[in-house]
Amino acid sequence: MLYLLVIFLPTLLLALYASFKVKRTFAKYAEVPVSSGLTGAEAAMAMLRSAGLDRDVAVEPVEGFLSDHYDPRHRVLRLSPDVYSGRSVAAVGVACHEVGHAIQHATGYVPLVLRNAIVPTASIGSGLGSLLIVGGLALNLTGLATVGLILFSAVVLFQLINLPVEFNASARAKEHAMSLGIVRGTHENSGVAAVLSAAAMTYVAATVTAIVNLLYYAWVVTSARE
Ligand SMILES: [Zn+2]
Repeated sequence: MLYLLVIFLPTLLLALYASFKVKRTFAKYAEVPVSSGLTGAEAAMAMLRSAGLDRDVAVEPVEGFLSDHYDPRHRVLRLSPDVYSGRSVAAVGVACHEVGHAIQHATGYVPLVLRNAIVPTASIGSGLGSLLIVGGLALNLTGLATVGLILFSAVVLFQLINLPVEFNASARAKEHAMSLGIVRGTHENSGVAAVLSAAAMTYVAATVTAIVNLLYYAWVVTSARE
């Protein structure tokens, strides 16, 4: 009951609000055309070219809404239909953010290297970690629950390292979009900033959720020990 009231509901509301906010902000700026007339894909190519990466990184369309991502394994930038062919402030903002990740990858940006290194442990930690905590507590095996706790803290670490990675990709996007003339003037620039800040909110919400859950689990495991 305590978990439901203090942990689950507030973090769920925060995540829902962040996701609502990013969709609404994207929809708003998808209606604002860029005076450069570039599509998201063209903007991405321009930014890749200026970073000297246009021969190394491909730009491809992918199904879905806001499913945009950079795939470091295949060095491919996959853009959702709205972003790939949209000629809006929202489309070029998201496209340039993903190029930000491609540049981080190419230049060996340290937080990204750390984040990718922790991905396997974090993905084990979110599933198996929680399972060991719950199972360990149920079977009265606090040692097992503590192992679960350590595994789960990898999730928090991942989310924490993810924040500078995401903020840095957005900073690169804003800088390049402006200097390359992909967006022009205060109105378009602040639109890009608004879209990227809304997207950042979802990562902050995920981090807060992970931290609050870890603290709660740690509290339960410690009280069980006594
Ligand atoms: Zn990102």
